[in-house]
Amino acid sequence: MHIINDIKRLNVGKVIENVVLKDYTTYKVGGKAICMVIPDDENNLITLIKYLDENKIKYKVLGNGSNVIFNNSGYDGVIIKLDNFNNLKIINNKIIVGAGYMLNKLALRVSRLGLTGMEFATGIPGSVGGAVYMNAGAYKSDMGYIVNSVKVVTPDYKIKILYNKDLKFRYRTSFLKENTGYICLEATIILIKGNSEEIMELIEERKKRRIETQPLEYPSAGSVFRNPEGNFAGKLIEDIGYKGFSIGGAKVSEKHANFIINNGGATGEQIKELISKIQKDIKEKYDIDLKVEQEFVE
Ligand SMILES: Cc1cc2nc3c(=O)[nH]c(=O)nc-3n(C[C@H](O)[C@H](O)[C@H](O)COP(=O)(O)OP(=O)(O)OC[C@H]3O[C@@H](n4cnc5c(N)ncnc54)[C@H](O)[C@@H]3O)c2cc1C
Repeated sequence: MHIINDIKRLNVGKVIENVVLKDYTTYKVGGKAICMVIPDDENNLITLIKYLDENKIKYKVLGNGSNVIFNNSGYDGVIIKLDNFNNLKIINNKIIVGAGYMLNKLALRVSRLGLTGMEFATGIPGSVGGAVYMNAGAYKSDMGYIVNSVKVVTPDYKIKILYNKDLKFRYRTSFLKENTGYICLEATIILIKGNSEEIMELIEERKKRRIETQPLEYPSAGSVFRNPEGNFAGKLIEDIGYKGFSIGGAKVSEKHANFIINNGGATGEQIKELISKIQKDIKEKYDIDLKVEQEFVE
């Protein structure tokens, strides 16, 4: 295929052909993409996206694939993975970390050092870049509380620093999500000195609670819907009798109704169908529009 050969000739990093997206998403769904590219560094990343834009080839930056739903019919574009952007520097309470670094791994590492502020993130299986993009959060905290600034590539291929106020963090969204074409390369996070024993105790307690209440033994992408004002999506879905309901391999978890699990062989299309059906029935029963937290990638 000439696109793959062209990309190989650019010599920007590793190119994986015949890539199957279900191997790169936590739902374990998704068909083939044209290829996956893992750029060596930021200059190579810019060379790559310039080529893709000039040739009108679609692309998607993928973190850990823990918030996306690809169709099993495939993705007619190139996947960019920032696995090589995994630098980490800890200077007292300041953390400089690459976008490809895993958020939960970072949270555990800094917590063990007695830095407080990232306890919320130990159960979030995303990359730093993906977490900044969607302002990942839990327990009344989120990335907006700890990110000082991020280094990005802009849609006109410049490297720029965006500060916290520029990033417009709000509930599960940010400037990066609302403005297409920005790629997060690195984040600077500021934490506070705390007591490592107390921090680790809290983390253990929350981990126990997550294991008890969430179907972590199955492939999923965490909560499907945002909680509507003054209500819980899981409670509404449970109340209309959807716990355990499935379409093909996509099933509403028996443990937590705001989780859809891949119960074996689910497709992205089946997950989407199940999401639409729940939205329709919740609308009919309660006149509430449930908003999806996960992203359909077409
Ligand atoms: C078991 C489980 C529990 C979860 N719990 C939580 C939770 O408590 N709170 C919560 O908020 N989320 C939770 N999630 C969802 C998910 O982990 C987060 O949304 C996470 O931030 C997604 O990161 P990712 O790297 O996997 O992003 P991906 O799913 O790979 O991508 C998501 C979006 O981010 C974009 N993106 C990724 N990297 C970059 C980058 N470097 N620059 C620009 N854009 C980028 C992608 O293009 C895509 O649009 C959970 C998921 C699972 C499976």
